[in-house]
Amino acid sequence: MPHRHPSLLAAPPPAPGRLWLTGARLFDGTAAPVREGAAVLVTDGVIERVGDAGEPVPAQARALDLGGRMLIPGLINIHVHVQGHEPRPGDGAEPLLAGTSAHFLQAALRDTLRMGVTTVRNVGSQDHQPQEARQAMRYGAFRGPRILTCGLIISATAPGGRFYGAMYREADGPDEVRKAVREQLRAGADFIKVMTTGARSNELEDPEPTQLTDAELIALVEEAHRMGCKVAAHVEGLDGAAAAIEHEMDTIEHGMYLCQRPDLLERMAAQGQVLVPTLSGYYWMAGLGDVVDPSHATVDAQMLPSIVELARYNLEQGTRSMRAARDAGVKIALGSDREGISGEDTALELARMVHHGLSPPEALQSATSIAAEAIGLEDQIGTVHAGKLADLVVVDGDVLEQPELLLDESRIWLVLQLGEAVAGAAASAQQI
Ligand SMILES: [Zn+2]
Repeated sequence: MPHRHPSLLAAPPPAPGRLWLTGARLFDGTAAPVREGAAVLVTDGVIERVGDAGEPVPAQARALDLGGRMLIPGLINIHVHVQGHEPRPGDGAEPLLAGTSAHFLQAALRDTLRMGVTTVRNVGSQDHQPQEARQAMRYGAFRGPRILTCGLIISATAPGGRFYGAMYREADGPDEVRKAVREQLRAGADFIKVMTTGARSNELEDPEPTQLTDAELIALVEEAHRMGCKVAAHVEGLDGAAAAIEHEMDTIEHGMYLCQRPDLLERMAAQGQVLVPTLSGYYWMAGLGDVVDPSHATVDAQMLPSIVELARYNLEQGTRSMRAARDAGVKIALGSDREGISGEDTALELARMVHHGLSPPEALQSATSIAAEAIGLEDQIGTVHAGKLADLVVVDGDVLEQPELLLDESRIWLVLQLGEAVAGAAASAQQI
């Protein structure tokens, strides 16, 4: 029996019928060269086959000429915090009501899809907001990206539990950790997220030592893997990195000091573990705004000076570790780790990965095929291959030459989700 993925079960209905996308320059999400004059046949929301623009339109298919625009897989961001950007009412203003935040989240999810991001993986948010949002999308309330969620983050009893509210499930001892894993699956989690170390975004936690013991980490991974789920490890210090790698956790989030331990990178490569460098998280904490090149930033730091200083150091280390990981043959997947979610997160992280040393094709693979593999959906999404779900993006321009084009909404000509035209100028002009 194939594993059941909650994120796939929550999919809205696919577009019925056949669609022939022709005249495409195809980047298929892998290291294969761009294919000129390509065509893709989509049937009932699934890619039936990839062909040539010179072929006749298949029977019963509507044809859409992409006019030489670039066709790429829907983008995937595997480290987001699924919450909206809520306003902070001024002193004396009516406080926000409990249900208001869900509207801001919906707005952010719509924007995210509009920018060509068709799948996100939530690695921590308040209560059940991601599950609620995807239920609303399933039944047609609005369109946004497919959401995978960890449920609550599993942590030792630790200061972070006071800072991050209902984002954490604190657990101590192997049995309680195992129970915490089961609770997340009960709540609809797709995977498990664990804090192997403290978080750099609060003043009371350190990157060393590991917060959970080996016995607790073993119980967590054993239970998650036994149930067919992957484990995402929050990793800052090297003790946490070593533990996450030793215990075969699937994705290493942050891992900014790994450049100091080439032996750990070699082991990650050998074991197929994926690094998620989350560069945008350091930009955010360091107050660098939305720039790609940090030297162009007007610094507007909101956090404590000690945290800002650490964030700057972590950005330097994190970019070094990303390059060292690439050189060691470690798979790298895109994750942005900004506060809340917004439309430009994914393209901004992609542009930053390129600025700090990945080639555009490497960065685009990290946001498509490698991201899909990292989250266990490589049979469904991440490449433009027969049998995959038709989550596709058509871009006006060459994203392999200019990946920053993805930051410009007017260049996102068409977004297809399960074959349905959901965003872009072509969708709004009802060309299909
Ligand atoms: Zn994060």
